[in-house]
Amino acid sequence: MKISFALLFTAVAAFFLWAYPDREEEQRYYCNQGYIFGTYYNIRYSSGKDLEKGILKTLKEFDNSLSTFNPKSTISRINQNKSEDTDEHFRLMYNNALQIWQLSDGAFDITVAPLVNAWGFGFSNKEDITGNLIDSLLQYVGMQHISLEGKLLKKSDPHIMLDASAIAKGQACDVVAEYLLSQGCDDLLVDIGGEIVLRGLNDSGEPWRVGITKPEDDPIGKQNDIQQIISSTSLAMATSGNYRQFYYDNGIRRSHTIDPRTGFPVNHSLLSATVVADNCMTADALATACMVLGKDSALDMINKLNYAECYLICADADSTNIFMSDGMKQLIGE
Ligand code: ADP
Ligand code: MG
Repeated sequence: MKISFALLFTAVAAFFLWAYPDREEEQRYYCNQGYIFGTYYNIRYSSGKDLEKGILKTLKEFDNSLSTFNPKSTISRINQNKSEDTDEHFRLMYNNALQIWQLSDGAFDITVAPLVNAWGFGFSNKEDITGNLIDSLLQYVGMQHISLEGKLLKKSDPHIMLDASAIAKGQACDVVAEYLLSQGCDDLLVDIGGEIVLRGLNDSGEPWRVGITKPEDDPIGKQNDIQQIISSTSLAMATSGNYRQFYYDNGIRRSHTIDPRTGFPVNHSLLSATVVADNCMTADALATACMVLGKDSALDMINKLNYAECYLICADADSTNIFMSDGMKQLIGE
């Protein structure tokens, strides 16, 4: 009798373990870290279980859409003229990119890929730069040369190529944050290469605190001195800078931000632009637009928008100066 009772108990316990392998554990903060899109990610959230598998699946799906370093992604297939088909991530990116292209007067432009590649910051090898080369590439740059017809991306010329690097990291933060929210996480921080989405509270029960990094020449991204801390329970923030991705060419500094209107890397006193917006995809694209426009035009653009603020760090001869849009001071609590 005793033996059959013990057997029955074991059988019932085994059944429950088999039927509910992911049973909820106690709510606690998890931290998942790794590398994606050539940069790091650091994702923290409060949950009853580790969601790393779901996060990785979400990131992989995103990579399959918008990574130009993945030859089979939607964007790569469009660049190789193998397909015109798009997916939802691509279409969301395209529509947002078009909007930011318009409001930045063409400073932000995903068709900049041939120039980015020629200058050695893209997915193919650097070329020898001449005025003629730049002129010949400029004819393939400009969002007026592409359109979305239903689900198909149409180009006016097969030489046209797209680069979503200046918007995709931010969009990926939104996508991971949405996944975590769908899993019932109210407290989360998603950081992909410095672009950030956060909600709720940190593991000390306080608003999350994130830093705007000092823009010091730092090609390998080791220094992380903080210029400004922002404390928040709901934020989407992105930073673009010219202090990590650059090289010197005959004494001229060449940065990875290209002005699509001239074909040349920008060269002005703006070292970094941090943008806070409704979502991280928009913040990311606007931050790059600011870097192209330079301080004055960037402030003009952002001050006209009721859903975005910016924090600009400029270096003049021997001093560093901060410029903020009208609502930014309130955001950082000054
Ligand atoms: P980071 O976050 O690394 O500072 P950004 O978000 O500014 O970078 O993205 C920079 C990348 O965007 C470049 O490496 C290039 O691939 C692409 N890019 C460069 N210039 C432009 C531009 N004017 N518009 C859109 N994308 C650009
Ligand atoms: Mg950007």
